Amino acid sequence: MTRLVVLGGGESGVGAAILAKVKGMDVFLSDNGTIPQHYIDMLDSEGIAWEQGGHTQALILNADEVVKSPGIPPTAPLVRQLVAQGTPVISEIEFAGRYTDAKMVCITGSNGKTTTTLLTYHILRQAGINVGLAGNVGRSLALQVAREEHDVYVIELSSFQLENMYRFKANIAVILNITPDHLDRYDHEMQNYINAKFRILQNLTQRDAFIYWQDDPVIRRQLQQVTTEARCFPFAQEREENTAAYVDAEDRLFINTPGTSLTMPRADLALSGLHNLFNSMAAGLSACLLDIRKEDIRQALSDFEGVEHRLEPVTEIDGVKYINDSKATNVNSCWYALESMPATSGVILILGGKDKGNDYSEILPLVRSKVKAIVAMGKDNAKIVAYFGGELPVYDTHSLQEAVDKCHSIAVEGDTVLLSPCCASFDLFKSYEDRGRQFKDAVLKLKH
Ligand code: ADP
Repeated sequence: MTRLVVLGGGESGVGAAILAKVKGMDVFLSDNGTIPQHYIDMLDSEGIAWEQGGHTQALILNADEVVKSPGIPPTAPLVRQLVAQGTPVISEIEFAGRYTDAKMVCITGSNGKTTTTLLTYHILRQAGINVGLAGNVGRSLALQVAREEHDVYVIELSSFQLENMYRFKANIAVILNITPDHLDRYDHEMQNYINAKFRILQNLTQRDAFIYWQDDPVIRRQLQQVTTEARCFPFAQEREENTAAYVDAEDRLFINTPGTSLTMPRADLALSGLHNLFNSMAAGLSACLLDIRKEDIRQALSDFEGVEHRLEPVTEIDGVKYINDSKATNVNSCWYALESMPATSGVILILGGKDKGNDYSEILPLVRSKVKAIVAMGKDNAKIVAYFGGELPVYDTHSLQEAVDKCHSIAVEGDTVLLSPCCASFDLFKSYEDRGRQFKDAVLKLKH
């Protein structure tokens, strides 16, 4: 009997363990932290052996294969030991992919993955496709394959998940963009991170499709070195040779695949901003390639309700708009948030948190042209104050309440208060979701 060991008792690990059990394997799950109770209940009800609070080597090193949670780095001593003794270490997606013939739409990139994944899923669901949502967003692919097979899966893939994928094959692979992120996990070598992202192209054949942002300098450069058999569908703001999705001078969106030619006014897209134009193009191209009717695609691209914490409008108070973009945990996503702000509105930008080695020069031109004040919100705001202090008013605050109160006191009718912090949230908050929710609560209280 094959012995499969799963490292990590989260959504992906528990799903993999259940799929392995359904396939008749001898399964053991080990987590060196605490496994949430509802996952323990799931493991127990399937009769799957598990441990938490540490790894018992003897029960792990005898595995025929190991499924590793993407959160565990390849440098973890146990993972090193498994690799050294020749035990295959794979991701949950790799494992689940062996047991399904469903079509796979796989989406990666440094920014925009969740939005594009949910938008693609929305289009397919609205069109009546039996579609599953999996990967970083949503639920475990393995669990769905074990219990409720779908015809198509839309899967958000992080570079961490891609690291342990080998034979898995996408039918449609999307790379939205590549900008520096998580470099601490890649020996501070950008190329290692790029290589991880490009693993999404592994095993693609002529029948498969590769969708990517044509103007991304990193993707362009990498494509000079790697080749793919897949049919390529690049998208860009302006049409070049081979561009499959673009906007024309009249701001109409065009999406062209061999089976479909779709046109719609850009103004009809539900999601605003240049970044969301790209996300809509990637989702629209995927849907066209899956032969979804044009009417259904247009409809779904225009009625998608957006994703919490991504340029999420909170409310308007005394003519001041409040926007929650708490998920902007790096400088590049803040750039897109600022880019999407109308030139007529003065922006009060809330920046700060746990700095991941930010280089603010990327947003400086947009800050100069659109931002009237920065409210720094973090335990230590010294870097932000020093960088922007000579440019515009920068207020030093150390709690969310203080930051929101400051914004409220300086904003005038027509302004926009934008939380798009460029930083991780862990100095003052549990997560970016916690930061976003606290922001929304504090803003809504201003109304009373
Ligand atoms: P991810 O899942 O890759 O982290 P999200 O969809 O959650 O991406 O968006 C994260 C942040 O990145 C949001 O704050 C949003 O403003 C910004 N963003 C979304 N799409 C893009 C894009 N295509 N390019 C650059 N930034 C983007």
